[in-house]
Amino acid sequence: MDVSHAPLIASDAPAAFLGSSLARQLLAGGLDLIQRAPGEDRQRWKRHRLGGRDYQFAQPLTLTPYASSNPCSARCHFCSENLRQRNDAQAPARLRPDAHYFVGLQRVLAELRGLPRAYSLSGLEASDDPDWLLQLLECLNGPVDLADVEQRVLYSNGAGLAGARGDELLAALERFGLSWLELSRHHHDASENQRIMRFRPGQTVAHAEVFQQLLHAASGRFPVKLVCLLQRGGIDSPQAVASYLDWAGRLGVDTVIFRELSRLDTGYVANATARYLSQQRVALEPLLQACLARRELGLDAQALTDGYYFWNLQLRHRSGLRVVFECSDYRTMHKRHAEGRVYKLVYFANGQLCAGWQPDRDVLLETRHG
Ligand code: SF4
Repeated sequence: MDVSHAPLIASDAPAAFLGSSLARQLLAGGLDLIQRAPGEDRQRWKRHRLGGRDYQFAQPLTLTPYASSNPCSARCHFCSENLRQRNDAQAPARLRPDAHYFVGLQRVLAELRGLPRAYSLSGLEASDDPDWLLQLLECLNGPVDLADVEQRVLYSNGAGLAGARGDELLAALERFGLSWLELSRHHHDASENQRIMRFRPGQTVAHAEVFQQLLHAASGRFPVKLVCLLQRGGIDSPQAVASYLDWAGRLGVDTVIFRELSRLDTGYVANATARYLSQQRVALEPLLQACLARRELGLDAQALTDGYYFWNLQLRHRSGLRVVFECSDYRTMHKRHAEGRVYKLVYFANGQLCAGWQPDRDVLLETRHG
C-alpha cells in the first residue's frame, strides 16, 4: 500500500486538501471534482448480509485477496508490508496460504453475491507464485455474479510477469478481463530503480531491456499504469519528473502515477521502514506546484479526486500520457475503518475476511469455522 514532517494535508482528512490554496485555485478555474469518498450520501452505502450479520458497505468497494504465498521478489525500502502497528497480533505478509485458501475464498465470494465490488489484487507480489495467481484468477471468475464486479486491477512489480511463465500469466490476466495493470517502477534508470526496489538475485525484470519487453507484451493486452513512489534520491524534483515522463511516453504506457510515500499515524512501530518513510518522503503538494509552474513540462490539470483516505490530481502530459499525483493518509484510513461501516475488504491467507489490512481485526467472516 500506499505523509511528511510538515504534512501536506492540513488536517487528518484528505478532503482538507480541497480547501488548500492549490485546490481552490484549480477548482475556481473550473476543474472537475470526482467524489469517490461516500461521505454520508445514502446512495453510496449498500446494506448487505455477511456471515449472518448486516453491514453497510461503501461504494465503490474493493476486495483484495492478499497475496502472501512467497516472500516478495523485491525488498523495497519503503514497503508498507513491513510496517507494524503497535497492537498487531500477526503480520499479513507472514501468513502463507494452505489447502483451505481457495475453499475459503469461494465462501467469501458466495457471501458477497449481489454486492457491487471491484477486485484489487495486491499484498506481496502475486506473480511470484504463478500457480497461486492462476488459481486465484480462475476462482474470482468462477460461478459468481459477474455483473457485481466492476473492475479488476493487479498491482505488480513485474517479476513473475517477466519470468519463465510470464506469457502464460499475461494471457490469463487478459482472459480474466484485467481492467489495467499497475506496474511499480520508481526510477527510469534501471540501476537507480534497483537501488530503491532491491530485486533479489536472478529477477530479470530489474534490467531495463526485460522491463521494456514486459511493458510491450502487457500493453498489447490491457492498459498499463506505471507507479512511481516519490522519494529523496529518486524522483524528487520537477526535472526528475520530466525525465520519467519522457521515458514513459516512449514506452507505450497509458498512465503514470506519482505517489507520495504513505503518511502514518502514531500507532506504528518506529522500525526501519517507518523511519525510511519519514526521512525519505518528498511532500507532494510543493512538488506538484513546482511542476505546474514549469510550463515546459507540458502538464495540464484535468480533474481532482477526493477519496476516502486519499486525494489525487489527474493531468494530461503533452505526449498524451495520463499523469496522476496522489497521496494517501493512513490516519484517515484508520478513522474511517473504525466507524463500524465497511470501506475495504481483505481476504487473508488465514481464511479471514476483514474490513481492513490487519488479520484478526474487524473480522467479517471466519471461513475456517461455521
Ligand atoms: S514490490 Fe511491493 S510488496 Fe514487494 S517489496 Fe516492493 S513494495 Fe513491498
